[in-house]
Amino acid sequence: MRFLRFTPKGTTEELIGILSKDEKKVFDLNFFELGKMYSSIQEIIEHFNDVELKEIKNLLAGELDGLGKYDIEDINILPPLKRTIHDIICAGFNYADHLKEIKKDSSNKVVNSVYFSKRSTKMIGQDGEVDGHLDLDPALDYEVELAVIIGKEGTNIDPEDVEKYIFGYTIMNDISARGIQGKHRQWYKGKSLDTFTSLGPVIVTKDELPLPLNLDIESILNGETRQKSNTKLMIRGIKELISEISQGITLEPGDIIATGTCSGVGVGFDPPRYMKSGDIIECKIEKIGTLRNRVK
Ligand code: MG
Repeated sequence: MRFLRFTPKGTTEELIGILSKDEKKVFDLNFFELGKMYSSIQEIIEHFNDVELKEIKNLLAGELDGLGKYDIEDINILPPLKRTIHDIICAGFNYADHLKEIKKDSSNKVVNSVYFSKRSTKMIGQDGEVDGHLDLDPALDYEVELAVIIGKEGTNIDPEDVEKYIFGYTIMNDISARGIQGKHRQWYKGKSLDTFTSLGPVIVTKDELPLPLNLDIESILNGETRQKSNTKLMIRGIKELISEISQGITLEPGDIIATGTCSGVGVGFDPPRYMKSGDIIECKIEKIGTLRNRVK
């Protein structure tokens, strides 16, 4: 099941939709019983269960004729969540090749995981415009990442139980101002400027992507592939990462965990190759989709 938020073109009405299997149609959730129960994807995340999933799947199999069905060309896709419930929790250096491109002189070993957070107040989604804040820092960079959406409250989660606490997955572009990121020692500000979180286009429920994940992950800048890897190459996989984060910290439904990026980011080139005004950046993950943004 792939959930998204959208507005039909020419309107400002925000709706919750389910993307059809062929990705050409979107079903308005208001035409399902479920739509009458929940008014936001956050509420769905908090209360969703397997029974409802089955019910929707059965309905979709019948492909609901007529009402409540939109062609994908006739909608604007919004970030899947209107707001995140907290700052996003991010893993740093979770792909060995990315660690190597940044820390060229190190032994390339990660002894302990690196965690930081990212403010997402002014989040953007599919085709949302990135404000590069180039006046503050011209070193504007991209990072394609798999983002995990937590579905159930949990603390001290055992690695083998992690999947029970997940609602689904989406794509995140962890947009970064490298100058600011380095200037302040901690990465928070350089990762948190308005529009620096791009999320979407859909949230795929976990039943479609059972762990361990083996998904091609890629970023493309103006048609040129910059990053290309596979989620199986994470240093710490989803189970290990979420279990570790949850030790002594309660995770809540709607929490987002960004799982780190692979090599090929702009700062990894010599000389660096950053984004500039007018660029189109696409972040792509197999079985989830392509998240596309333009730099203002
Ligand atoms: Mg990142």
